[in-house]
Amino acid sequence: MSRLSIRNVSKSYIADKISGLALSPASLDVEEGEFVCLVGPSGCGKTTLLHMIAGLLESDTGVILYDGEIITGPGAGRAMVFQDFALFPWLDVLGNVEFGLRFSDIPHRKRRKAALESLVRVNLGNVVHSRIHELSGGMKQRVAIARALAAHPRVLLMDEPFAALDAMTREQLYADVQFICSGNGTTVVFVTHNIREAVCLGDRVILFSEHPGRICREFSVRLPRPRQINDPKLSALSLEITRALKQRGTSARKRL
Ligand code: ADP
Ligand code: MG
Repeated sequence: MSRLSIRNVSKSYIADKISGLALSPASLDVEEGEFVCLVGPSGCGKTTLLHMIAGLLESDTGVILYDGEIITGPGAGRAMVFQDFALFPWLDVLGNVEFGLRFSDIPHRKRRKAALESLVRVNLGNVVHSRIHELSGGMKQRVAIARALAAHPRVLLMDEPFAALDAMTREQLYADVQFICSGNGTTVVFVTHNIREAVCLGDRVILFSEHPGRICREFSVRLPRPRQINDPKLSALSLEITRALKQRGTSARKRL
């Protein structure tokens, strides 16, 4: 059984009383411990699909199974990291991570310890009492990652988490995310429009067509880890995928 099984899931939104298809029926299985990147142009439905996996949004058709059970809402086993960090400025770093544990199974008295452990894991053990506005962008996103990881989710859902960060900070976070997520069975679904980033992080890269999005291609990435964003082999594969994305008429879903 797959950790996540997405079956014929589609979504339309109603705007100005007109219903528009945002995501054509999509099917995808994601296995335990797999790191899958969803890549496609802006507006192709990546966030929509991620929110449906998180249980924040209902699909119009199809179902998404988590360990064989139909997802009907959010659950502690699935945690989300947003592009804009979504942190609370009136709480300190530790408070933000503890807040993420309020719906978890972790008893109240153990939450502080779990939050501290999670902050150490992302290398923020020295700023636990800082306010959010005192942190750099990279540190803020680390807090958001610590908050998501604190409850030890089986599935980590990340929506363009590094898009707002500068290149050097991103590079450090690629290394951190690979370190944090490797070998502990965490399944990651990572949304990005940056192909090189997807190749750096993913075991598989799933390409979406333009709006209304449709899964059109799939690439397995077998480069050894940890991967460096500037590795020439990684660049070559990114180029191949970029060309595939630009090609028109990729109607059949292919695995290269
Ligand atoms: P992506 O994350 O790939 O950029 P989204 O999932 O955010 O794409 O959006 C897919 C399409 O659905 C876009 O055309 C977007 O404008 C539309 N859309 C997204 N959310 C809403 C909403 N709440 N109401 C109306 N249209 C929406
Ligand atoms: Mg999006």
